[in-house]
Amino acid sequence: MPKKSTPTWASDVVSHESAFLQYTRAEAANRPIRERIRDFQEFHEVQPVTVLQQQAARCMDCGISFCHAGMTVDGTSIGCPLSNLIPEINDLVYRGMYAEAYERLRRTNPFPEFTGRICPALCEGSCTLGEHEPPVTIKDIEHFLDEYAQEHDLLLPHPPQARTGRRVAVVGSGPSGLACAHQLNQLGESVTVFERADRPGGLLMYGVPTMKLDKGVILSRIAILEAEGIDFELKAEVGKAVALRELFDNFDAVVLCCGSAIARRLEVPGANLKGVAYAIGYLTNATRRQLDEAYSGPELLDAKGKDVVIVGGGDTGNDCLATAIRQRCRSVVQFQHNPAPPLTRAADNPWPLWPKVLKTDYGQLEAIEVFGKDPREFETSVKEVSGDENGNVVAVKTARYQMQWQGSKRIKSEVPGSELTRPADLILVAMGFERPQGALIEALELETDDRGNVKTPTGGYSTSLNSVFACGDMRRGQSLVVWALMEGRECADEVHGFLNKHNLA
Ligand SMILES: Cc1cc2nc3c(=O)[nH]c(=O)nc-3n(C[C@H](O)[C@H](O)[C@H](O)COP(=O)(O)OP(=O)(O)OC[C@H]3O[C@@H](n4cnc5c(N)ncnc54)[C@H](O)[C@@H]3O)c2cc1C
Ligand code: SF4
Repeated sequence: MPKKSTPTWASDVVSHESAFLQYTRAEAANRPIRERIRDFQEFHEVQPVTVLQQQAARCMDCGISFCHAGMTVDGTSIGCPLSNLIPEINDLVYRGMYAEAYERLRRTNPFPEFTGRICPALCEGSCTLGEHEPPVTIKDIEHFLDEYAQEHDLLLPHPPQARTGRRVAVVGSGPSGLACAHQLNQLGESVTVFERADRPGGLLMYGVPTMKLDKGVILSRIAILEAEGIDFELKAEVGKAVALRELFDNFDAVVLCCGSAIARRLEVPGANLKGVAYAIGYLTNATRRQLDEAYSGPELLDAKGKDVVIVGGGDTGNDCLATAIRQRCRSVVQFQHNPAPPLTRAADNPWPLWPKVLKTDYGQLEAIEVFGKDPREFETSVKEVSGDENGNVVAVKTARYQMQWQGSKRIKSEVPGSELTRPADLILVAMGFERPQGALIEALELETDDRGNVKTPTGGYSTSLNSVFACGDMRRGQSLVVWALMEGRECADEVHGFLNKHNLA
């Protein structure tokens, strides 16, 4: 049990009930841009407790709070998928009862150290205060609680009291695999996680850049999971290094958490030239260079001194942008084929839905500071890539497009005279992911849905093969860490129920 805190109310907060009138939203600071682009250290800082207490006090403790609803309506999220007990946590933080607040957070969120750093905070989009005022800084509070827990030794292994004697194999150690393994282990199942990479974490390790999530944070959590009794087998690709027969002979159930790794391809003339790279290869290479002193990687994947073109305007494109700036690129531009979202909510995107508004992310802010202009060009696509006599990329031809309605169809048409040829040495394709890799799915002859993801019943995680389950991006398609954690947790409960029902022991 954590030590009990003595309540210490924020001295200058008039009252919890009216703090939202007294204080406006104050976000945690980021390290200054000119300083942070010199390294790959995390840039997001933790707020002083006095500010955090005021911010937590802004929570109105609504009767019906949407911030923890965890629903999806018409494909758009409402609230935290993990259903974190946000008003209760905010109240405990306001009272200065940080250890208790961390414990409350831990009840629903297996890994606050990941979400406190990189969750887009779906909760804040549905905060009631956000209907008229800027929402409560829920994610910053979560980040603080994780730091508090680290500093006060609250992040301790909690091994299960008893074991069921059953064994479950979890394939893949991304956030869904880790959450599933954690929950199964807490329920007394003996879990082995098989991971094909040399380090655990999935996209948390090789994908999300270090300046957003320090890799030591992941490894510290893995050490706790190991101390709780979970086995990790690295460089253990199931279907290759680990035979499928071995899994079925030695485990009572198998959970597939292999992610959605097939990237959407750039299909234009010249897309195979040297210097056209895919975001994950580029980001993985950058992380490896930071982690392994001896590793230098292909020079092709270093942005130093290069004119960099990023194709894709999403979060992955932004991570590539920030990485290229840290590698000292000569110039960088980011193309997005969609129009810029509105600055405020559109009429068909009301609160409490996740707000689809223009966001200028950390990498874009860095580019504005370094190069003096926003790197994004909306409604712009690459038409062709051209190279020199050695097959190296030297330029891209782009054009602007407009979407127009023709009857009930939206047609994309090129804006006449908008074609431009621009210098390019490195083109990073960050156009999203289509589906999971096929080898394991085919070997197990699993049914897939119309998008190529592993098919499971609505609201369930069982696959078409008895005792095989799937969760995370491999099941729902490319998504977010918080959804992966939620799926991992729910899937584990289903596997545990399945094993109990079939009395497998
Ligand atoms: C560049 C980038 C940045 C992102 N940033 C954010 C962010 O800031 N916030 C956010 O919420 N989300 C972010 N995401 C999305 C998020 O990372 C994913 O939604 C999440 O990691 C999915 O988790 P997962 O466990 O389903 O799969 P993954 O994280 O993809 O993990 C799958 C794991 O399975 C392993 N594997 C696959 N096949 C096998 C096999 N046959 N045998 C053994 N192991 C296997 C893989 O090596 C991998 O480690 C980002 C994604 C990318 C690409
Ligand atoms: S996990 Fe994400 S959505 Fe849930 S409370 Fe934390 S920041 Fe909000």
